[in-house]
Amino acid sequence: MRSLVREMLQTMYSADGIGLAAPQVAVNKQVIVVDVEPDQTATPPLVLINPKIIRTSKELCTGEEGCLSIPGVYLDVIRPAAIEVSFKDENGRPQKRQVSDLLARCILHEMDHLTGVMFVDRATNKIAMNQALQKEGFSVKDVQAVAR
Ligand SMILES: [Zn+2]
Repeated sequence: MRSLVREMLQTMYSADGIGLAAPQVAVNKQVIVVDVEPDQTATPPLVLINPKIIRTSKELCTGEEGCLSIPGVYLDVIRPAAIEVSFKDENGRPQKRQVSDLLARCILHEMDHLTGVMFVDRATNKIAMNQALQKEGFSVKDVQAVAR
């Protein structure tokens, strides 16, 4: 687990990402890493093993998302503004966190990867989605969820 987490963090930082899920590096495990402030060494990355959403806020917000698995494509996605999530940390200790804004969005985006859902599946504007995908040389078929 430790070497998987180290490898995932390396991959995420070297690609200038703020989150990565194990399935993105072809590992079928319920593990995500998140660091929405990669330049701030004082705030370490979050490692979430077996993350579960306990609660989501009624308030929703729209934000632009991208994904290391679909480079160059950025689309608006509506998600809950805040969540409560439980998980095990890299030391196997159970944790619970209430997070909001970008951190909540990032965790939800990465957790979607664990069930094969891509952010394009949640894109609010399908016309903009098709245009953005085509511009980067992808077809909708390429990025559709393989499993739900
Ligand atoms: Zn992604």
